[in-house]
Parts: sequence; C-alpha cells; structure tokens
Amino acid sequence: MTARVGLYPGTFDPLTCGHLDIIRRAVKLVDKLVIGVATSNAKGPLFSLEERLEMARAETAEIAKAFSSQIIVEPFEGLLIHYAEKVGAQFIIRGLRAVSDFEYEFQMAGMNDRLNPDIETVFLMADARYQAIASRLVKEIAQLGGDVSGFTTPEIAARLQKKFKGLAK
Ligand code: ADP
Repeated sequence: MTARVGLYPGTFDPLTCGHLDIIRRAVKLVDKLVIGVATSNAKGPLFSLEERLEMARAETAEIAKAFSSQIIVEPFEGLLIHYAEKVGAQFIIRGLRAVSDFEYEFQMAGMNDRLNPDIETVFLMADARYQAIASRLVKEIAQLGGDVSGFTTPEIAARLQKKFKGLAK
C-alpha cells in the first residue's frame, strides 16, 4: 500500500497549542506528516526560519515518539502545490478556526485543487480550547508583557520573552 503522506504548511511564527493540536490529530490520519515551515519573508516573521524550524522540531519530537509516527519538519518556499508534489503528499492539512479563516482557506483549497486535483486539502476544525489562539495575538500579548503560557509551550513562551527583551534594548 502506498504510504499516506500529509503536508501541514504554515508560518508557525511561533508554534502555538492550536498548531500542536492539529499536528497531534493529523499524525493519526497519515503514515508520514511533513510540517512545511514557510520562509514567509513577505509576512516579516518575528522568528527567523532557523528558529521556527528549531521550535517545530523540538516540540514535535515528543508527539512523533508518543504516536510512533514519522514527523518531518522542513523549510519551504515558493508555490505550496509544488512543494506538496515534491514531498509526495496526497493531502494538505489545514486548521480551521473561525468563519474568518474560511473564505481564504476555501479559495486556497479551490486553487490548489485546480493546480493538482490529486492532492486533497483536508481541514481539521480547531479544538474549542484553542479556537481563539493565533500566533499574531500571542506575539502581541508577549510584546506587551502578558502571560502567554496558556497559548503555547513553556519553551516557546520563554523564547518570546527573551526575543522581546532583546528587541527592547
Ligand atoms: P499561515 O501563514 O499559513 O496561515 P499559520 O502558522 O498562521 O500559517 O497557520 C498554519 C495553519 O494552522 C493554518 O491552517 C491555520 O489555520 C492553522 N491554525 C493556526 N492557529 C490555529 C489554531 N489555534 N487552531 C487550529 N488551527 C490553527
């Protein structure tokens, strides 16, 4: 049987509990999960690509162990569908939070389907506990000195704190 390969792409600037929940659920659906960390230069990420890869690798190692599954974290740039083809993914996995995510995601899935109808976009509904979590807001809260421990892991919360201390100098 052909191995089922899923690609979960994102900016992960930084990874949140919402992303980790999607990853935990996605590994159950595929044999191999590729987490594609977008260079996202246009978005002006707070964390460098190297830092985002490092965080994603560190945080997903436990999940891979717990589920005895294969999780690969890699950088990517350019067209998503080309990257999905390159890694042999049959599925692109995306998380859906509020209605506001829907229109953009629906359009993206439609365009990707036109580009390669053999690759299916699969949406996982955000868990109610993580619905409101967005990397952008986590960064804003951390920048203003708020407690982000409920939104991301202790390691990433510490990195955020360090980052904003460094920037304030
Ligand atoms: P992108 O720049 O591709 O939107 P993000 O890192 O913001 O990258 O998000 C990656 C994916 O994770 C998207 O599908 C997004 O909808 C999903 N996602 C983000 N936050 C959450 C959350 N709290 N719960 C579920 N899915 C989420």
